[in-house]
This record gives sequence, C-alpha cells and structure tokens, in this order.
Amino acid sequence: MANLEHSVKVETDRPCMPDFCICCGAPATDSYRPESPGRMKGMPQPDEPLAYPYCAACKVHLRAAQDRKTANLVAINFAIWGVGLPLAVGLPLVSLVVGPTIGGLMYVRNRRSNLQTTDECSTEGVAARVSWLRKHTYEFSFTRKETAEAFVELNRDSLTDR
Ligand SMILES: [Zn+2]
Ligand SMILES: [Zn+2]
Repeated sequence: MANLEHSVKVETDRPCMPDFCICCGAPATDSYRPESPGRMKGMPQPDEPLAYPYCAACKVHLRAAQDRKTANLVAINFAIWGVGLPLAVGLPLVSLVVGPTIGGLMYVRNRRSNLQTTDECSTEGVAARVSWLRKHTYEFSFTRKETAEAFVELNRDSLTDR
C-alpha cells in the first residue's frame, strides 16, 4: 500500500494542482482523473472534476499498477471459484487444487510484472488520494512531500484545519 502520509485539508471546489507530475516531479504532460470522492445524495458535484498532473512515464506505471490490481482480483476469484465450482458440480477432489494453482500462478506473475517506475517515483500506484469531508472541504493525501508542499503553497487561501 502506498504511503499517503502528506495530508492537506482545503475548503474549496477548485483546488489548484501544481504543474509538475505529482508522482516524480517531472514536468506534467498528462493528467489522471481519479474517481470523484463519494458525496451524500443531493450534494452538488464540483464544477470541474479533479485531475492530477502526471508525466507520461508515470501515467504508464499508474495504469499498469491499476491493471495489476484488477488482475489480482481476477486471480483471487479464480482461486475461490476453483474450489467452489468443482465441489458444487461433484468433480473428483483432485480438481480442487487446479483453480487455486492457476489463481496462485496468476498472482505471482502479476507481482513480478515490471511497473517501470523511476528512482524519482514516489509510488507505483496513484500518488494522491482525496477524501471528501464536508460540502466544500477535501482532504488530499500525497505520497510525495514536495507535491504536498507545492499544493499547500498554491492553495494557501483555502487551507483549513477545521
Ligand atoms: Zn512522473
Ligand atoms: Zn512515477
């Protein structure tokens, strides 16, 4: 799990993002839109969806990390159904090991896949997380200290510790 230890709370619907990659600090040439934080029904959505600045290289490993997460879920499901299905249809006991074995192999292969992070990268996966606290109050968590510092600088007027 990525270490999202640098948290900043802001009270705004338009948080400013730095113009460099939030993962490694290289000039941002791309962006990544996270899923919007959950809101209670009836609450207004932000005018503009959030987008995190990313460099092209980091967008690649971010995608790969997310794909790997999905692939691991598939592997785990395979392991579970590999046990449940033969039992349900009354196949011989030996078939019980097939599903988990395949699931396990898939999991190991996923773990080994190269995510192509650089030494500058602060995480393999997404380098920021946002949680919605109140109507216009968000808490941003960053893996990279410099990103959090730049974010504080850019959003100084909206900072809140309430
Ligand atoms: Zn980057
Ligand atoms: Zn990166």
